[in-house]
Amino acid sequence: MTSATQLRTILKQYYGYNAFRPLQEAIITDTLAKKDVLAVLPTGAGKSLCFQLPSLIQPGITLVISPLIALMKNQVDALSALGIPATFLNSSLSTKESRERRHGLRTGQFRILYVSPERLSTDSLIAQVDDIQVDLIAIDEAHCISEWGHDFRPEYRQLADLRTHRADAPVMALTATATERVQQDIREALNLRVESPYIASFDRKNLFYRVLPKNRPLNQILEFLRSRSSQSGIIYCQSRKGTEHLAAQLSGHGIKALPYHAGLSQEIRTANQDAFIRDECQIVCATIAFGMGIDKPNVRFVIHQDLPNNLASYYQETGRAGRDGLPSDCLLLFTPGDAAKINHFIEQKPSANEQEIARQQLRQMVHYAESDACRRTSLLAYFGESRGTDNCNACDNCREPKKSFDGSIAAQKALSCVYRVYERSGFSVGLNHIIAILTGANNEKIKRWGHDNLSTYDIGQEFSRSQWAHIIRQLIREGLLFQTSGLRSTVELTTKGSSFLKSRSQIQLTKPPSKPASTTIKPAADDDYDDGLFQKLREIRKQLADEKNVPNYIIFSDVTLRQIAKHFPQSRKELLTIHGIGAKKLEEYGDVMIAAVNKYRQPQLQTPN
Ligand code: ADP
Ligand code: ZN
Repeated sequence: MTSATQLRTILKQYYGYNAFRPLQEAIITDTLAKKDVLAVLPTGAGKSLCFQLPSLIQPGITLVISPLIALMKNQVDALSALGIPATFLNSSLSTKESRERRHGLRTGQFRILYVSPERLSTDSLIAQVDDIQVDLIAIDEAHCISEWGHDFRPEYRQLADLRTHRADAPVMALTATATERVQQDIREALNLRVESPYIASFDRKNLFYRVLPKNRPLNQILEFLRSRSSQSGIIYCQSRKGTEHLAAQLSGHGIKALPYHAGLSQEIRTANQDAFIRDECQIVCATIAFGMGIDKPNVRFVIHQDLPNNLASYYQETGRAGRDGLPSDCLLLFTPGDAAKINHFIEQKPSANEQEIARQQLRQMVHYAESDACRRTSLLAYFGESRGTDNCNACDNCREPKKSFDGSIAAQKALSCVYRVYERSGFSVGLNHIIAILTGANNEKIKRWGHDNLSTYDIGQEFSRSQWAHIIRQLIREGLLFQTSGLRSTVELTTKGSSFLKSRSQIQLTKPPSKPASTTIKPAADDDYDDGLFQKLREIRKQLADEKNVPNYIIFSDVTLRQIAKHFPQSRKELLTIHGIGAKKLEEYGDVMIAAVNKYRQPQLQTPN
């Protein structure tokens, strides 16, 4: 029986971490007691550690099933850097290589074996590991087993056989995305003996959520990047062309940016992704094709230049920021025109049912973008998680609440305009036409339909057209107006709206922006550390990483470098108190780090007061 203190000692010794993250310890303890586990933890919660750490305690190996061949090598490199011997078997290896590795497994050279699920079907992995003691079977991305998940992989179905053959080893199934339905599928398919799954909160506290009205996206992005010159980020675009165009424009401004989308060749995609992981390119401009299998911990921001189709994707894509737990930014540039574009795509879908679902998802997305409520609360509510009503302090609406004003008169004007149009013409019109009437426009339709004779013609000079759009969209959200979906979407008065009109009720609205909001957004607040030293340490890390041919973060995370740049450790003992420095990294890089700190301090010490 391993005590809690022993677990923490191992955590410190190998990983250099001082404490477990929520649920990690409980999950590990269950595994060591030979219990099955189902764990649903958001990205960045630290799932890998849950199956890696037990391998250091148990005599047999830990078998990890992971769907992404690209990630296996990284994981194995990262483990080696921690002094945990691991290896992988997948279709990328030659027969000779894989024979050697299997021999190593039999002779106890490795603690952890990664395999890809396709291995299970091509040649019988079950037979290959037959004479090897397996103490834990960990199944990463376990939702791939479910047809109801977003990433079904038929090969995962074979895991049921593995389970039957190795009934002695407990199974740990891990995923970051699981609806009830998917959870149930995972439990059934793997015959998991679990009373209740471990489900963590999906609140990513280190992420700052923000929405800005999109007007000149390139300028807005450039301005955002100005204060983030050395930070990694992903910019999601709706179209493939969009990614290439943006990457070219950013490059033109001297920013290292590369595109990524499914239309590029495999070689280019891999090269661009690698450059990003290795911090050789600062920004990836990507479609949704990018992200699965990126476990780069120091992505400091995710920008959505265009509106995502639904909130689930938005959560997942923004979730790629800040895996290392450091403050990171999520920025959405929003214009209603983007919603109209998506709507247009939705119209092309063959089935009416599919269209309806997609439309509803889009409405939720637009609601998120336009809402003045806490972004975090809205996002979590989508996943059925409630977080109370307190100020989250890390979203634009909580930090800078929008000013409200008495919108009763504006609402009366807009609603009665909608009413009068219908009364006069017998049909409803779109939002823009309503605004045209209110602001006294002189266009062809207005004249043809005689709308310049309406009593509501030209009564709205106090607001600009875009301000009226802002107001009317609020009235739609409040349920006073209804906007039909479809190509020629129109605006109609609801029952609620008509009783509002009759009773001359009052309403508070948020102030429409008087001019385009500025994008000057300071990077999410951070601990104080010496940036000069931090930059020096980054250079050293890059050299070390290049020598070993691994991504930078495998040598040290940004968290570790920032802590060194804050505490200026002078000895090996002091260095060991730094987050992320365990025995192996101390031995390997301890002296280099101390020397760097001393060298940086020298000139400062010599400076006379
Ligand atoms: P997930 O797979 O859940 O997205 P990872 O396993 O990639 O998350 O872990 C995310 C990051 O958190 C990694 O950089 C990892 O080293 C770090 N981490 C994991 N557990 C801890 C811990 N107990 N303390 C500090 N950092 C941790
Ligand atoms: Zn908030």
